[in-house]
Amino acid sequence: MLNDYFQHQAELSDLECDLRCPNDCSAPGCWMADVIVEVTFVDLIRLSKALTTRVSHLFSQYCQLGLITCEDNLRYKRLAIKMKKPCPFLSENRCMVHDSKPLSCILFPEIYQVKGLLPQLSQKPIFNSFPCLKKPIAISENRNHALKKLRRMSIQEQALSHDYLFGVPSFIVCAKPLKKKLRRSHPKKNLFSLKDYDTILNKTLKASGFLESVFEKISRLDTMAGMKHIIEKLNDRVMMTHLVEKMVRPGVVHKLERHHIKKLKRSLLSPAIYFM
Ligand code: SF4
Repeated sequence: MLNDYFQHQAELSDLECDLRCPNDCSAPGCWMADVIVEVTFVDLIRLSKALTTRVSHLFSQYCQLGLITCEDNLRYKRLAIKMKKPCPFLSENRCMVHDSKPLSCILFPEIYQVKGLLPQLSQKPIFNSFPCLKKPIAISENRNHALKKLRRMSIQEQALSHDYLFGVPSFIVCAKPLKKKLRRSHPKKNLFSLKDYDTILNKTLKASGFLESVFEKISRLDTMAGMKHIIEKLNDRVMMTHLVEKMVRPGVVHKLERHHIKKLKRSLLSPAIYFM
Protein backbone atom coordinates (compact mmCIF):
# COMPACT_ATOMS: atom_id res chain seq x y z
CA MET A 1 0.00 0.00 0.00
CA LEU A 2 2.84 2.32 0.94
CA ASN A 3 4.70 1.58 -2.29
CA ASP A 4 1.53 2.11 -4.32
CA TYR A 5 1.03 5.49 -2.69
CA PHE A 6 4.58 6.61 -3.49
CA GLN A 7 4.40 5.14 -7.00
CA HIS A 8 1.24 7.15 -7.66
CA GLN A 9 2.99 10.32 -6.45
CA ALA A 10 6.00 9.61 -8.69
CA GLU A 11 3.72 9.22 -11.72
CA LEU A 12 1.93 12.48 -10.92
CA SER A 13 5.27 14.27 -10.41
CA ASP A 14 6.50 13.25 -13.88
CA LEU A 15 3.23 13.65 -15.75
CA GLU A 16 3.80 15.99 -18.71
CA CYS A 17 6.39 17.96 -16.76
CA ASP A 18 8.11 20.44 -19.08
CA LEU A 19 9.95 22.32 -16.37
CA ARG A 20 13.72 22.26 -16.87
CA CYS A 21 16.01 24.07 -14.43
CA PRO A 22 17.84 26.84 -16.36
CA ASN A 23 21.59 26.16 -16.80
CA ASP A 24 22.45 29.37 -14.96
CA CYS A 25 20.45 28.38 -11.87
CA SER A 26 22.56 28.20 -8.72
CA ALA A 27 19.73 26.35 -6.91
CA PRO A 28 19.09 29.26 -4.50
CA GLY A 29 16.02 27.57 -2.99
CA CYS A 30 18.21 24.68 -1.91
CA TRP A 31 20.88 26.70 -0.11
CA MET A 32 19.40 30.06 0.92
CA ALA A 33 18.60 29.98 4.64
CA ASP A 34 15.62 32.31 4.20
CA VAL A 35 13.86 30.04 1.70
CA ILE A 36 12.13 27.44 3.82
CA VAL A 37 11.80 23.89 2.52
CA GLU A 38 9.11 22.34 4.68
CA VAL A 39 9.02 18.55 4.99
CA THR A 40 6.60 16.06 6.54
CA PHE A 41 7.22 12.63 7.97
CA VAL A 42 5.73 11.20 4.74
CA ASP A 43 8.56 12.93 2.82
CA LEU A 44 11.01 11.38 5.27
CA ILE A 45 9.50 7.92 4.81
CA ARG A 46 9.76 8.28 1.01
CA LEU A 47 13.40 9.35 1.34
CA SER A 48 14.19 6.61 3.85
CA LYS A 49 12.97 3.98 1.40
CA ALA A 50 14.99 5.43 -1.49
CA LEU A 51 18.17 5.81 0.58
CA THR A 52 17.61 2.71 2.78
CA THR A 53 18.14 4.88 5.84
CA ARG A 54 16.13 5.15 9.05
CA VAL A 55 13.52 7.92 9.23
CA SER A 56 14.90 8.99 12.63
CA HIS A 57 18.38 9.35 11.10
CA LEU A 58 17.05 11.57 8.30
CA PHE A 59 15.14 13.66 10.81
CA SER A 60 18.04 14.18 13.22
CA GLN A 61 20.72 14.74 10.56
CA TYR A 62 18.94 16.67 7.83
CA CYS A 63 16.00 18.43 9.47
CA GLN A 64 15.20 20.83 12.26
CA LEU A 65 12.10 22.19 13.92
CA GLY A 66 11.51 25.83 13.18
CA LEU A 67 8.94 28.52 12.61
CA ILE A 68 7.25 29.81 9.49
CA THR A 69 6.08 33.40 9.46
CA CYS A 70 2.54 34.40 8.79
CA GLU A 71 3.01 37.41 6.51
CA ASP A 72 -0.36 39.00 7.25
CA ASN A 73 -0.21 38.56 10.99
CA LEU A 74 3.23 38.87 12.51
CA ARG A 75 1.92 37.94 15.93
CA TYR A 76 1.62 34.27 14.98
CA LYS A 77 4.05 31.76 13.53
CA ARG A 78 3.59 28.12 12.60
CA LEU A 79 5.77 25.25 13.79
CA ALA A 80 7.19 23.10 10.98
CA ILE A 81 9.87 20.56 10.11
CA LYS A 82 12.38 22.35 7.93
CA MET A 83 15.18 20.97 5.79
CA LYS A 84 18.53 22.20 7.12
CA LYS A 85 20.23 24.75 4.87
CA PRO A 86 22.19 24.45 2.66
CA CYS A 87 20.16 21.34 1.92
CA PRO A 88 22.39 18.31 2.61
CA PHE A 89 21.14 16.73 -0.62
CA LEU A 90 22.50 19.54 -2.78
CA SER A 91 25.70 18.74 -4.64
CA GLU A 92 27.20 20.94 -7.38
CA ASN A 93 23.85 22.70 -7.84
CA ARG A 94 22.10 19.36 -8.35
CA CYS A 95 19.56 17.59 -6.18
CA MET A 96 20.96 14.17 -5.28
CA VAL A 97 17.52 12.80 -4.36
CA HIS A 98 15.58 14.15 -7.35
CA ASP A 99 13.28 11.11 -7.66
CA SER A 100 12.36 11.06 -3.98
CA LYS A 101 12.61 14.70 -2.95
CA PRO A 102 10.00 16.30 -0.63
CA LEU A 103 6.65 17.27 -2.14
CA SER A 104 7.33 20.96 -1.48
CA CYS A 105 10.43 20.69 -3.76
CA ILE A 106 8.41 18.83 -6.41
CA LEU A 107 5.70 21.48 -6.42
CA PHE A 108 8.00 24.49 -6.61
CA PRO A 109 7.67 26.66 -8.68
CA GLU A 110 4.90 25.20 -10.87
CA ILE A 111 2.22 25.32 -8.18
CA TYR A 112 2.58 29.13 -8.05
CA GLN A 113 1.85 29.27 -11.79
CA VAL A 114 -1.21 27.05 -11.24
CA LYS A 115 -2.43 29.33 -8.44
CA GLY A 116 -1.73 32.45 -10.56
CA LEU A 117 0.75 33.71 -7.95
CA LEU A 118 3.97 33.52 -9.97
CA PRO A 119 4.14 37.30 -10.77
CA GLN A 120 3.61 38.14 -7.07
CA LEU A 121 6.25 35.64 -5.98
CA SER A 122 8.87 36.85 -8.43
CA GLN A 123 8.46 40.41 -7.09
CA LYS A 124 9.65 39.41 -3.63
CA PRO A 125 13.32 40.40 -3.12
CA ILE A 126 14.15 36.96 -1.73
CA PHE A 127 13.22 35.35 -5.09
CA ASN A 128 15.18 37.80 -7.28
CA SER A 129 17.89 35.24 -7.95
CA PHE A 130 15.49 32.52 -9.19
CA PRO A 131 15.80 32.32 -13.01
CA CYS A 132 12.82 29.92 -13.21
CA LEU A 133 10.51 32.71 -11.97
CA LYS A 134 11.44 35.22 -14.67
CA LYS A 135 8.79 34.10 -17.16
CA PRO A 136 5.51 32.13 -17.12
CA ILE A 137 5.80 28.36 -16.97
CA ALA A 138 3.98 26.31 -19.61
CA ILE A 139 1.62 23.85 -17.92
CA SER A 140 -0.65 21.47 -19.85
CA GLU A 141 -4.15 20.64 -18.68
CA ASN A 142 -3.07 17.18 -17.50
CA ARG A 143 -0.08 18.66 -15.69
CA ASN A 144 -2.33 21.22 -14.02
CA HIS A 145 -4.57 18.43 -12.79
CA ALA A 146 -1.60 16.38 -11.53
CA LEU A 147 -0.13 19.37 -9.66
CA LYS A 148 -3.44 20.11 -7.95
CA LYS A 149 -3.67 16.48 -6.89
CA LEU A 150 -0.12 16.58 -5.51
CA ARG A 151 -0.92 19.81 -3.69
CA ARG A 152 -3.94 18.15 -2.04
CA MET A 153 -1.73 15.23 -1.02
CA SER A 154 0.84 17.65 0.36
CA ILE A 155 -1.79 19.45 2.49
CA GLN A 156 -3.08 16.14 3.84
CA GLU A 157 0.43 14.88 4.60
CA GLN A 158 1.18 18.11 6.42
CA ALA A 159 -2.00 17.90 8.51
CA LEU A 160 -1.33 14.25 9.39
CA SER A 161 2.36 14.80 10.09
CA HIS A 162 1.74 17.74 12.41
CA ASP A 163 -1.15 16.03 14.17
CA TYR A 164 0.98 12.94 14.82
CA LEU A 165 4.15 14.77 15.86
CA PHE A 166 2.85 17.98 17.45
CA GLY A 167 -0.61 16.88 18.66
CA VAL A 168 -2.50 19.32 16.39
CA PRO A 169 -2.64 19.63 12.58
CA SER A 170 -1.48 23.24 12.77
CA PHE A 171 0.74 24.19 15.72
CA ILE A 172 0.42 27.97 15.94
CA VAL A 173 2.88 29.79 18.19
CA CYS A 174 2.37 33.23 19.67
CA ALA A 175 5.53 35.11 18.72
CA LYS A 176 5.25 37.78 21.44
CA PRO A 177 6.86 35.89 24.36
CA LEU A 178 9.65 34.65 22.07
CA LYS A 179 10.34 38.20 20.93
CA LYS A 180 10.46 39.36 24.55
CA LYS A 181 13.04 36.67 25.32
CA LEU A 182 15.09 37.67 22.27
CA ARG A 183 14.98 41.33 23.34
CA ARG A 184 16.17 40.40 26.83
CA SER A 185 19.12 38.41 25.49
CA HIS A 186 20.02 40.91 22.69
CA PRO A 187 19.08 44.36 24.11
CA LYS A 188 20.90 46.22 21.30
CA LYS A 189 19.15 44.39 18.48
CA ASN A 190 15.87 45.62 16.98
CA LEU A 191 15.20 43.18 14.18
CA PHE A 192 15.23 39.42 14.66
CA SER A 193 15.51 36.82 11.91
CA LEU A 194 13.61 33.53 11.76
CA LYS A 195 16.93 31.89 12.65
CA ASP A 196 16.97 33.87 15.94
CA TYR A 197 13.41 32.74 16.64
CA ASP A 198 14.27 29.12 15.77
CA THR A 199 17.22 29.11 18.18
CA ILE A 200 15.14 30.29 21.10
CA LEU A 201 12.22 28.07 20.05
CA ASN A 202 14.37 24.94 20.10
CA LYS A 203 15.76 25.81 23.54
CA THR A 204 12.22 26.11 24.90
CA LEU A 205 11.00 22.96 23.14
CA LYS A 206 13.95 21.05 24.60
CA ALA A 207 13.39 22.35 28.12
CA SER A 208 9.70 21.42 27.99
CA GLY A 209 10.35 17.84 26.78
CA PHE A 210 8.51 18.54 23.49
CA LEU A 211 11.57 17.82 21.32
CA GLU A 212 12.14 14.49 23.01
CA SER A 213 8.53 13.46 22.43
CA VAL A 214 8.74 14.41 18.72
CA PHE A 215 11.91 12.35 18.35
CA GLU A 216 10.33 9.39 20.11
CA LYS A 217 7.35 9.50 17.70
CA ILE A 218 9.68 9.81 14.69
CA SER A 219 11.62 6.74 15.92
CA ARG A 220 8.41 4.67 15.77
CA LEU A 221 8.45 5.27 12.02
CA ASP A 222 11.69 3.31 11.71
CA THR A 223 9.67 0.09 11.66
CA MET A 224 7.54 -1.08 8.76
CA ALA A 225 4.57 -1.52 11.12
CA GLY A 226 4.94 2.07 12.38
CA MET A 227 5.08 3.47 8.84
CA LYS A 228 2.10 1.43 7.65
CA HIS A 229 -0.05 2.35 10.61
CA ILE A 230 0.40 6.03 9.92
CA ILE A 231 0.17 5.88 6.16
CA GLU A 232 -3.11 3.91 6.39
CA LYS A 233 -4.60 7.02 8.00
CA LEU A 234 -4.00 8.95 4.77
CA ASN A 235 -6.58 6.69 3.12
CA ASP A 236 -9.19 7.43 5.78
CA ARG A 237 -11.08 10.18 3.95
CA VAL A 238 -13.34 11.18 6.85
CA MET A 239 -10.45 11.54 9.26
CA MET A 240 -8.30 13.41 6.74
CA THR A 241 -11.10 15.88 5.90
CA HIS A 242 -11.50 16.57 9.62
CA LEU A 243 -7.74 17.09 10.10
CA VAL A 244 -7.44 19.46 7.13
CA GLU A 245 -10.42 21.48 8.41
CA LYS A 246 -8.74 21.74 11.81
CA MET A 247 -5.47 22.70 10.12
CA VAL A 248 -6.98 25.68 8.29
CA ARG A 249 -8.98 26.85 11.32
CA PRO A 250 -6.88 26.20 14.39
CA GLY A 251 -8.59 26.87 17.69
CA VAL A 252 -5.50 26.87 19.86
CA VAL A 253 -2.44 29.11 20.03
CA HIS A 254 0.66 27.92 21.90
CA LYS A 255 2.55 30.17 24.24
CA LEU A 256 6.05 28.88 24.88
CA GLU A 257 7.09 29.60 28.43
CA ARG A 258 10.39 28.75 30.02
CA HIS A 259 9.82 25.06 30.77
CA HIS A 260 6.36 24.40 29.47
CA ILE A 261 3.92 25.09 26.66
CA LYS A 262 0.66 26.84 27.47
CA LYS A 263 -2.42 26.35 25.26
CA LEU A 264 -4.67 29.36 24.68
CA LYS A 265 -8.07 29.11 22.98
CA ARG A 266 -8.18 31.38 19.93
CA SER A 267 -10.21 31.34 16.73
CA LEU A 268 -7.89 32.12 13.87
CA LEU A 269 -9.12 32.82 10.37
CA SER A 270 -7.79 30.36 7.79
CA PRO A 271 -4.10 30.82 8.52
CA ALA A 272 -3.39 28.21 5.87
CA ILE A 273 -4.12 30.95 3.34
CA TYR A 274 -1.33 33.02 4.80
CA PHE A 275 1.12 30.26 5.46
CA MET A 276 0.94 28.27 2.21
S1 SF4 B 1 15.78 17.96 -1.55
FE1 SF4 B 1 16.72 18.48 -3.51
S2 SF4 B 1 15.34 19.99 -4.43
FE2 SF4 B 1 14.80 19.85 -2.26
S3 SF4 B 1 16.00 21.47 -1.27
FE3 SF4 B 1 17.21 19.60 -1.15
S4 SF4 B 1 18.55 19.65 -2.95
FE4 SF4 B 1 16.90 21.13 -3.29
